[in-house]
Amino acid sequence: MQYVSTRGTAPILGFEAVTLAGLAADGGLYVPETWPTFDHDQIAALRGKSYAETAAIVMAPFVGDALSREDLHALCVAAYGRFEHDAVTPLVQLDAQHWLLELFHGPTLAFKDVALQLLGLLFERFLSGRDSHLTVIGATSGDTGSAAIDALAGRAKVDIFMLHPEGRVSEVQRRQMTTVLAPNVHNIAIDGSFDDAQALVKAMFADRPFAERFELSAVNSINWARLMAQIVYYFYAAVRLGGPERPVAFAVPTGNFGDVFAGYCAARMGLPIAKLIVATNVNDILHRALSAGDYSAGTVTATAAPSMDIQVSSNFERLLFDLHGRDAGALCAAMGGFDRDRRMALTPAMQAEAGNIFVSARVDAAAMTGAMQHAATRMGQVIDPHTAIGLAAARAIGLSADVPVVTLATAHPAKFGDAVEQAIGRRPELPARIAGLFDMPERSVSLPATLAAIEGHVAAHARPRA
Ligand SMILES: *Cc1c(COP(=O)(O)O)cnc(C)c1O
Repeated sequence: MQYVSTRGTAPILGFEAVTLAGLAADGGLYVPETWPTFDHDQIAALRGKSYAETAAIVMAPFVGDALSREDLHALCVAAYGRFEHDAVTPLVQLDAQHWLLELFHGPTLAFKDVALQLLGLLFERFLSGRDSHLTVIGATSGDTGSAAIDALAGRAKVDIFMLHPEGRVSEVQRRQMTTVLAPNVHNIAIDGSFDDAQALVKAMFADRPFAERFELSAVNSINWARLMAQIVYYFYAAVRLGGPERPVAFAVPTGNFGDVFAGYCAARMGLPIAKLIVATNVNDILHRALSAGDYSAGTVTATAAPSMDIQVSSNFERLLFDLHGRDAGALCAAMGGFDRDRRMALTPAMQAEAGNIFVSARVDAAAMTGAMQHAATRMGQVIDPHTAIGLAAARAIGLSADVPVVTLATAHPAKFGDAVEQAIGRRPELPARIAGLFDMPERSVSLPATLAAIEGHVAAHARPRA
């Protein structure tokens, strides 16, 4: 499989190069040149397969000949062996129509582990035969940072610099990052929002001499390999609920549009998906874009679901690329306009095309709390604020009763203990794997949200190209 940039001028790359590169050199995002497809029988044949087997089969067309089938399967077994549940991503039935897909059984208790545990192993594999060294730069609204740090801590040939918005991640999220003292891990708290952090990461990549000197790489969901790994659980869940015979809907708590874009990829690959419900909190640019064609950035409002406190969703560019008929020139013009005006209008034709698969809902604080309470009292499930936004959207959209609706449970409730306690009056128990977090020393530096400050810090601590 070859990968092309949405902006059209970066080199076309194979899987290994696209994994190590992250962001494309022209500022675009890599997407597969074509969508591989699975026919009915190939999807039906996934029945009864383990998660790791399913993962190896679903990802094989994207990996191509970068890894043998056996190697890919072995990496999946290793990555998903670190999950606490044997099913890796178990389904929990809530009522006659609704299920949760629990994606939080990995080491840092959020769905980010599903992709990053594999990505850490892919980095190690692809770098082992090389003389080079990578500097991973990331921006996190909380969960990517801890998952990436867990996946990369102590690995040879990789340094990781993770930017988080100071004071805007939960205490568990912060400690999961800052208590990792491996010398290749560098936490940076910036004086700004997640969008500022993400913009700084993009600016560092755009500074080509700097990017090349330190061999910058990305672990945000702009990295294609992450999205690829997330496609797997859509297949895994759908097949367990009657797919491919029965189309299934998914409600996805959405921030950077990565997770739900993986669902879109699954649909493009032939998985029968009834609808993808894009659930946003009050930071609702995606809801406005999908429901009214109004893709315009406002200012970020801090909420109890901080991983969704995003205005500009990087991965939306990947969908826009398809909506522009994969015409990179047209996409470049549209993105240039967006960078200038902070707004873009989707044409009625684009809205209609997106509407074939996507539907969206905006969930405010009251509805989020209501969903946590409903889940606790009526369904016996304690859910985190992000999952609650997904569930509230799933229930509000009201799909016909014969369509199973799966809400992606993106974080363990203990990661957001304060918000959960406020909503349902009791504190979720800390799982054993993070007990002890509150007694460990932390390491992090605080920097202003300027490119000069961040680049200076990276330059002082990273290992430049020999
Ligand atoms: C990252 C994250 C999200 C948003 O996922 P995107 O891929 O950025 O849309 C939702 N919930 C939780 C708990 C997350 O960590």
